[in-house]
Amino acid sequence: GTHGTNGMNGTNSTNGTNGHYESNGFASRGRLAGKNAIITGAAGSGIGLETTILFLREGASVMMCDISEPALAKAVIKAKDLSPHMTGKIATAKCDVAKEADVQAVVEQLDAWGGVDVMFNNAGIMHGDDADAIDTPEKIWDLTQAINVKGVWYGSKHAILSLRRHHKTVGSIINTASVVALVGSATPQLAYTASKGAVMAMTRELAIVHAREGYRFNALCPAPLNTPLLQDWLGDDAEKRHRREIHFPTGRFGEAIELAQAVLFLASDESSFVNGTDFVVDGGMTRAYVTPEGPATKPPK
Ligand code: NAD
Repeated sequence: GTHGTNGMNGTNSTNGTNGHYESNGFASRGRLAGKNAIITGAAGSGIGLETTILFLREGASVMMCDISEPALAKAVIKAKDLSPHMTGKIATAKCDVAKEADVQAVVEQLDAWGGVDVMFNNAGIMHGDDADAIDTPEKIWDLTQAINVKGVWYGSKHAILSLRRHHKTVGSIINTASVVALVGSATPQLAYTASKGAVMAMTRELAIVHAREGYRFNALCPAPLNTPLLQDWLGDDAEKRHRREIHFPTGRFGEAIELAQAVLFLASDESSFVNGTDFVVDGGMTRAYVTPEGPATKPPK
């Protein structure tokens, strides 16, 4: 389909992969107009890329960071294609968030744009060899903490320094945690769970320490999402999918765009009094007592 609600011709404009952009309406309300955002892990299949696209559509300039250059090259094409009327700038940078020099370099690149307004520390890994207390290899533990925890520290630190350097009185930093920081995972991934708990605790302290400067910090807590990775993992096994879906009162997994919408709110000045929260986007999963039958009420026919 094409967009065109603002009277511009929607040449070559495709919708988001899942149609949510269409249902949101095309016309950007400029909720991030004039803001400069850095998004780490922006080339991923999920939250990072969807947030990039949504931010661009709402008038932000976006620096997409990722450790994978090939993935970045593909992602930036997609982001531009899905944001045909963007008014901000877009750039990419290879950046390993576990290396402070990399993070500092990327943040300082934004000095040319006028400094950082929004930092989305989203890069994170869940390693395949991550397991329970007995079987998690020390190397995997250390790697997971280096990317998921130290990466958020570096991103937060250099965002604060940039905000101060540019004498900003408003800033929003969003750190991606997970529902595993709120409820234990029955499928063990101890290093990942510990890392996300650390993200949440760190975010809370940052929020308090920097509140008087006008810099807000919030932790995003997504439940498992419907991403290509999940599809691969569940395969065609309908029973396996159902056993997972009933954990959600909504009866379905979330979509990356639904996380991106929450990040947009936290990034924008609309959330000016939201600080230090664990912003849970999980379809009610962490509020649910799961029964095999699922929720009692069914949608009307
Ligand atoms: P994804 O794997 O699709 O994307 C993550 C991106 O981060 C990838 O592009 C990867 O190349 C990049 N990355 C990995 N290591 C990096 C590093 N050292 N420096 C910079 N970039 C690096 O993941 P996603 O599902 O979009 O997840 C994004 C965030 O959301 C992660 O922090 C993840 O833990 C969290 N999360 C995801 C889910 C989910 O179901 N997808 C649920 C809860 C939390």
